[in-house]
Amino acid sequence: MQTSPAPPDFQEITPTAPIAAATHGWRAKCLQRLIRLGLPVPRTVALSSDAVRAIAAGRAPDTAALWSGLGEVLVSVRPSARNPDWGGPGTMLNIGMNDRQHAVLCARHGAARADVLYLRFVQSYAIHVARLDPDLFAGLAAESADTTPGESIETALRLYEQETDEPFPQDPARQLAEVLRSMARAWEGTSARLLRQAKGAPADAGLGLVVQRMALGIGQGECGTGAIQFVDGTTGRPQITGRYRRQAQRPHPHDEGSTAEELFLTHDPRGPSLQDLCPEVYADLCAHGEICRARLREEMQIEFTLEDGRLAVLDAVRVGRSSRAAVAIAVSLARDGIIPREEAIRRVEPRALSELLHRQVDPRGPRDVFARGIAASPGAAQGRIVFTSDGAQASAARGEPCILVRRETAPEDIRGMHAAAGVLTERGGTTSHAAVIARGLGLPCVVGASDLRINLRDRTLATRDGRVFAEGEVITVDGTRGEALAGEVAMLEPAPDDAFRTLLDWADTIRDIGIRANADTPQDARIARDFHAEGIGLCRTEHMFFEGDRLTVMREMIFADSPEERAAALERLLPMQRADFLHLFEIMHGLPVCIRLFDLPLHEFLPQSRDGLLELAKALDRPLSDVTRRAEALAEFNPMLGMRGVRLGITFPEIYEMQARAIFEAAVESAARGRPAVPEIMIPLVSAVREVELIKTRLESVAAAVRNSSGQPLTFRLGVMVETPRAALRAGEIATHVAFLSFGTNDLTQMTYGLSRDDAGRFMGAYVQAGVYPEDPFHTLDVDGVGELLLTGAARARRTRPDLTLAVCGEHGGNAESIAFCRMAGFDYVSCSPFRVPVARLAAAHLALAMREKVNNG
Ligand code: PEP
Ligand code: MG
Repeated sequence: MQTSPAPPDFQEITPTAPIAAATHGWRAKCLQRLIRLGLPVPRTVALSSDAVRAIAAGRAPDTAALWSGLGEVLVSVRPSARNPDWGGPGTMLNIGMNDRQHAVLCARHGAARADVLYLRFVQSYAIHVARLDPDLFAGLAAESADTTPGESIETALRLYEQETDEPFPQDPARQLAEVLRSMARAWEGTSARLLRQAKGAPADAGLGLVVQRMALGIGQGECGTGAIQFVDGTTGRPQITGRYRRQAQRPHPHDEGSTAEELFLTHDPRGPSLQDLCPEVYADLCAHGEICRARLREEMQIEFTLEDGRLAVLDAVRVGRSSRAAVAIAVSLARDGIIPREEAIRRVEPRALSELLHRQVDPRGPRDVFARGIAASPGAAQGRIVFTSDGAQASAARGEPCILVRRETAPEDIRGMHAAAGVLTERGGTTSHAAVIARGLGLPCVVGASDLRINLRDRTLATRDGRVFAEGEVITVDGTRGEALAGEVAMLEPAPDDAFRTLLDWADTIRDIGIRANADTPQDARIARDFHAEGIGLCRTEHMFFEGDRLTVMREMIFADSPEERAAALERLLPMQRADFLHLFEIMHGLPVCIRLFDLPLHEFLPQSRDGLLELAKALDRPLSDVTRRAEALAEFNPMLGMRGVRLGITFPEIYEMQARAIFEAAVESAARGRPAVPEIMIPLVSAVREVELIKTRLESVAAAVRNSSGQPLTFRLGVMVETPRAALRAGEIATHVAFLSFGTNDLTQMTYGLSRDDAGRFMGAYVQAGVYPEDPFHTLDVDGVGELLLTGAARARRTRPDLTLAVCGEHGGNAESIAFCRMAGFDYVSCSPFRVPVARLAAAHLALAMREKVNNG
């Protein structure tokens, strides 16, 4: 490539050549940048994606003209798609190798080295260009112990001729043309197309190619090849890593058993290093790394060759990185002033943050997946299988991690879930009980693994393909991918480090929608604060009644025969609730705490099994028949639409009155301790304005009583959860009575679709696959239907009360697309599980940045 200019299909890469990522691909553009920065890149030409498309369609590239200017060299061809993540066919090396070149190299470098190059090229060409079966060439490994490379070449050439009915092509121009054609066609193949589209490539994405003069990496002086990077790909911390192999080209699939000598890059007491051998080359590489970082504004891995001590930089690619490293690198580039903070924020995918918050299955390890379901709560956990909550608690008491495996979970499983390391259920969807609670607890969870069969009698778990796991066997739940794996696997530890916190602090200065957390317990609240949630947006109080002896008192309240008996039981619950709220107020330090009054249907507090009912009868000192009759009376055909939420509050007013008293007394106490709190109280499942009026009157009278008895001032903000379509439609009149509306999009989705939260998992997969729903509407807000109710409700409410606070507190609050919708609709905040708060903070900043960009671009 030294003498004549490149023919029209090929654009020589020079500092001023018209090369762009859009036409020639990222690699061509990157090589041009390296050349502009003065790095010693061998002569390279680029083919545009249009030229490659024409080659795939049958046009013959003018490789003869290109080759005539090359002289005695070999070349490589590499893919250059517009985006490196879209992949492309593998690199081909040593094109131009033939009998004549072989003879020249034998004379120059000795037969052994020349043979290795020739054999390697024949194999690659046969497999990737002529598409011969790789097995044909097994055992012909270069430098193999069984055959000499010379014999292997002869065998490979003979096999090639036998299989293709023609001798191995000796004309370098033809070799190159065939390589280009085969790479162009590989790009058009169906599986390659599907793979890149899954990574976001448009349907018409093209492929550029780069043809580069080879630096052989063999010769008399110091020769070899390597790759160097300046940060660790797992942690993102500064660290020189990579490899250098003497007298070798880049590693090759057929290199097993290769005798090429591998050296350390930096000085190392265990053996020789490139730094010791060639300190100047090493220093040059470090300087190149630094200049790439500063000018390409990225951490790059540099691929290089040494030929007689002369350094050639063949390529540079973005350092492969874990999510943790992506955060560390972005923050470090911004701290060094190389990229602005906004750019650092934009470079980190919000969803990737959850990898920093939970343990993850190491993606490099083997995976024996025995079941797939819905990825309900991210992170991974391993432990022994238990099938009951009691089993989980016993296991925790022994200090043994366990995985709670259930058909589905019910509120009475809360304690088991607290004790378990992870949860796997046969039934359920994104907002089923197990999913919601697990997300709240930060517990890895897979739900709706419908191919599993749990046999409680045998205490076994059977898979679709006939495998059986017994209680006590170790399994791994991967809640990030929605998979259950057999046995223990290698894990990566979470790392919400300094860089993570810094990036989120920067995001907070940019986002323009509030982020609160759904937190029911002091532990949740602490996590929420730690992740800088701006308050609690939903405290589901019923979860407080499943703990220890409270459940018994709760059950006594349910079985009370008279209002007096009920009042006595509630009197015992009052101090417990007061302590709960006081604790939350203290942890949240004056940030808003939004408490939802009791929502659950009462039967959820009762045992389901006969044994459980018998135990309850003993505890309550009542006949079993009495307890069973009462349990049956409370049972509902459709409890989600039954006596729950405000309906319960109106039917049993004492419950809400006790909760209100507990909240107000806790607020007074908190103020007395120097932590003033303004509680927010939220009424669930409202469908009629009269419900709000009734509850509001009662709450105000309790507040007045507490003011009187304490002699302290007391204020609270009242809100309504909009969870029924009717509440959304009547939001205008509801708003006249309240300070805020919080859309409970879990129930609102359920009721808008007429789709049970707990049963939808059974057919959701099929529905999404058939395109009936574009996505699971419990996961991503249905902007067309449920979204319209949000917009209508918000507009009607704000027309009545322009200063009304609007929020979303369903599971959608932690989902980036749903946050975008809420922001666009002018909502004040979203509230999500504590562990999703960081993701929501970053997603909200991305949205604000995208809006700024839109405005700036007119
Ligand atoms: C909702 O329905 O969106 C909600 C937040 O309440 P829950 O999930 O407790 O029903
Ligand atoms: Mg609800």
